[in-house]
Amino acid sequence: MADPELVDVVVIGLGVGGEEVAGRLAEAGLTVVGVERELVGGECPYWGCVPSKMMIRAANAIAEARRVDGLAGTAEVRPDWAPVAKRIREEATDTWDDTVAVERFTGKGGRFVRGSARLDGPGRVRVGEQVFQARHGIVLGTGTRPSVPPVDGLAETPYWTNRQAIEVEELPESLLVLGGGAIGLELAQVFARFGVRVTVVEALDRVLAVEEPEASEVAAAALRADGVEIHTGVRAERVSHDGRGFTLRGADGAEFTAERLLVVTGRRAHLDGLGLDTVGVDAGRRYLAVDDRLHVTEGIWAVGDVTGEGAFTHVAMYQAGIVVADVLDHARRADGGADPSGTASATGGASGAVGASGTTGSGGSAGAVPRADYRALPRVTFTDPEVGAVGLTERQARERGVNVQVGLARVPSSARGWIHKAGNEGFVKLVADADQGVLIGATSVGPAGGEVLSGLVVAVHAAVPLARLRQMIYAYPTFHRAIEDALRNMS
Ligand SMILES: Cc1cc2nc3c(=O)[nH]c(=O)nc-3n(C[C@H](O)[C@H](O)[C@H](O)COP(=O)(O)OP(=O)(O)OC[C@H]3O[C@@H](n4cnc5c(N)ncnc54)[C@H](O)[C@@H]3O)c2cc1C
Repeated sequence: MADPELVDVVVIGLGVGGEEVAGRLAEAGLTVVGVERELVGGECPYWGCVPSKMMIRAANAIAEARRVDGLAGTAEVRPDWAPVAKRIREEATDTWDDTVAVERFTGKGGRFVRGSARLDGPGRVRVGEQVFQARHGIVLGTGTRPSVPPVDGLAETPYWTNRQAIEVEELPESLLVLGGGAIGLELAQVFARFGVRVTVVEALDRVLAVEEPEASEVAAAALRADGVEIHTGVRAERVSHDGRGFTLRGADGAEFTAERLLVVTGRRAHLDGLGLDTVGVDAGRRYLAVDDRLHVTEGIWAVGDVTGEGAFTHVAMYQAGIVVADVLDHARRADGGADPSGTASATGGASGAVGASGTTGSGGSAGAVPRADYRALPRVTFTDPEVGAVGLTERQARERGVNVQVGLARVPSSARGWIHKAGNEGFVKLVADADQGVLIGATSVGPAGGEVLSGLVVAVHAAVPLARLRQMIYAYPTFHRAIEDALRNMS
């Protein structure tokens, strides 16, 4: 067996979070080994955010063209998937090749190892025959994979996950989507706009069940207007495939058929086979439990989806900033105070990992390690209309015993919504803590719902008093003026 090689840090999994941590620590002057068994960059650039948003951009262009009738004359639209598949292949993923991403990491001074890594006792990581002893720490950024429900027969069928849906070159004639969450709805709407007959089957009593009920209603109505059939409250009991198509049977006996079946019922952390037991960490958990500096246990940090703190790229990037600062702080103290970076503030900068426009990270200023705070965590479902949300829903706030005030304003009733006309569905809903006089949650649904959300994120993040929000000037006629209307409607 090979002697362990002494390095400063080993990062296992170079997805969004791991690549950011590994690159910034390497730039700060540590010897960093980054291990990745698939593609550097992870799910987001190859099978997640980036290609799915390219699909959505294309599908929205079709929808806008169809809105020309009644607004600007007539337009004939003939959807064609070929340019979308080509763009995903050539621009987003380099045909699922990570050469550029590997070079991006090694260019920062990191050492790249391709393979599946596992912990092998405190401070030790094994990749095949190679063994590394990490002086300053190990970072786990192993991400998630699709969580497939134990439906009778499903495992034996050639069902799709997000990966096959993103890689598709030729669209099926019909598609069953099992799961009415954010990913399911985004992809359902895309395929429907390209002419696929889409049926969404959801076990809960509404789609987008984690969001406000009003958001579920608007999203469901928008998808139905695109021709998507939506069946809620249907628990899938059995799936079969006869070589030509799928049949899904619900517990109530209802049957749904389609050429393809896409399963998007959630994600599950990659924790199995990681050797967590060798460092005294419970391997049976759904996610890694971390503290507010992303510590798992002595000398081990986690970053990204494995922490279960909302499966978003922006969370992985945010956490990466904290991990970088904390690892550098530990390294500085272990080395008797010398700053390993020589600068004491590795602020990172754009990694480009996900076509990034910079990091939200907290820098690597030793001794000033920020603590993770998810109170103002934004989330956006990129359907048309977009569903943006931050903080607590009304129901969550009430369940926590907050003295809740709610205000809602509909986009079509606003000046901009009325002007916009076709495709103007949406609303702004505010959830306030009446005792504190601040917003603790908000939802923004509309043609630019995710963008309108940003002002609401600032309000929740900075606990801006409601009185100050009411004194603000809101540009006329923007979509975000609905925030002012919702403030006025608060009770
Ligand atoms: C269809 C879809 C659309 C999405 N859209 C958005 C969006 O619009 N906005 C958004 O914010 N988020 C979106 N997400 C979520 C986003 O992709 C994830 O939050 C993000 O990729 C998490 O990054 P990560 O670094 O935690 O994990 P991942 O990106 O999953 O990377 C983990 C990496 O670790 C590697 N790995 C695992 N185990 C080992 C091991 N033992 N050894 C070596 N390597 C290992 C894996 O191969 C993988 O490359 C979307 C996801 C999907 C599926």
